[in-house]
Amino acid sequence: MDIVRSQNSSLLIFDEIVIDGEADVPTIARIQSHDHKDHMSKFFSSFTKNKYVISHKATIDLIKAFNPRKSRALDFRTNILPVDYKKPFDIEGKYLVTLYQNAHVLGSSQILVQDLKSNLRVLYSSDIGPQIIEKKLTIPECDILIIDSTCGTTNPTKQKDYSESLEQLMDTIGDNLSYDRPIQVSGHRGTIEKVILEFMDKFKDHKIYLSKNILASIHVYRKFKWAFAPEEEYGMIEEVMLKDKKYAYFCNPNETENFNHQYDPLYFRLSGFNSLATEYIRRNEDIFDCFFTAHASYETTIEYIKKSKAKRVIIDKIRGSETRACSLKDSLSERKDFEELGVKFEVLKETKFK
Ligand SMILES: [Zn+2]
Ligand SMILES: [Zn+2]
Repeated sequence: MDIVRSQNSSLLIFDEIVIDGEADVPTIARIQSHDHKDHMSKFFSSFTKNKYVISHKATIDLIKAFNPRKSRALDFRTNILPVDYKKPFDIEGKYLVTLYQNAHVLGSSQILVQDLKSNLRVLYSSDIGPQIIEKKLTIPECDILIIDSTCGTTNPTKQKDYSESLEQLMDTIGDNLSYDRPIQVSGHRGTIEKVILEFMDKFKDHKIYLSKNILASIHVYRKFKWAFAPEEEYGMIEEVMLKDKKYAYFCNPNETENFNHQYDPLYFRLSGFNSLATEYIRRNEDIFDCFFTAHASYETTIEYIKKSKAKRVIIDKIRGSETRACSLKDSLSERKDFEELGVKFEVLKETKFK
C-alpha cells in the first residue's frame, strides 16, 4: 500500500481516507479542506459513499450558503461532521483526523491524518494563505507532507509581498475614488472579503454595494466574527440610483458582467499571481489588474515545510500544472538547508487501480 496516492483529482491517504475528491476504491471518510470549486469534486455524492464526511464548521456553512438546494441533505444526514480546528476526530479507532487553520479562506484547513497503529502522521497543507507564518498559526509536525504547489514564483525578484499588495491596492483605489464614477472590484473568495473589510475601514463614508454571491455568505462571515455589517445594511446593486455616480461595487470574477452601471466604472480585477509581472498593479485604460493572491509565497512555503518537520515532502500538482510542481520541486531540492535537514522532495503521481 502506498501511504499517499492521487486519483481523480483527489488525495487518498492510507487507502481509506480521501481528501477533496473521490477515489475508485471504497473509503471510510472524506475530508474537505475548503469549499473552493476546484476542491469540491463529487462532494454532494460523497455522503452516501463514506461513513464520515468531515470539514470545518465554516466550510459546511459556506457550502450551504452557496448551494442551498443541493445542501438540503447536509441538514439531516448525521454522517456530515462540521468540526472545529484542533479538535481531533477518531475514525473507527484507526485514525485521528485534526484540522488546523491555514489562512487561505474562511473555513479552510490543513488536514492532519494520524495512523494510530504505526503512529505515522500525514499532513495535507491544502491551499495555504499568504499570512500563515505572520499570524503564527499552528503548523503540525508530521512525517509526510503534501504541499500545495500554487505558491507563486521561486524567483525572488518577482515575489509579491502580501501587505504591500494590499497597501498598493488601497492607495490606487483611494487615488481614484474622488472621480465622479463608480468603481467595481472583482476577486475570488478568500481575497475579496479581506479587500472589502479594508476598504470599509479606510473609506468609511463611501457607499458600498455587494454582489449576490458575496451577500449570500455575509451571515457566515459574521458568525465567525469577521467585521462585516449585517447583510441588509449593504445596498442591493439593482437599487443603485440613476443619479448615483460614486459607489464601490464588489463581486466575484464570474459576476463582473452581471450589472450594467449607469456610468462607466473603473475596474479593479484581483487576478491572483502573475509570474511575469514585476509590478503589483498594471493599468490598462479603465482596468486595473491587481496581482493580489490568497496563496502563500515561495518563502512562506519554505518556512511552512521547515515548521512541519516533514522528511518526505510530496508536491501536490492536482490543481497546479505539472511544470510548476516540477520546477518547485527542483528549486526546493537544490536548497542546502533542506539537504542538511535530510528533506526529500517528490511530485505527486496519479495512481491507477486495475
Ligand atoms: Zn483555494
Ligand atoms: Zn486550490
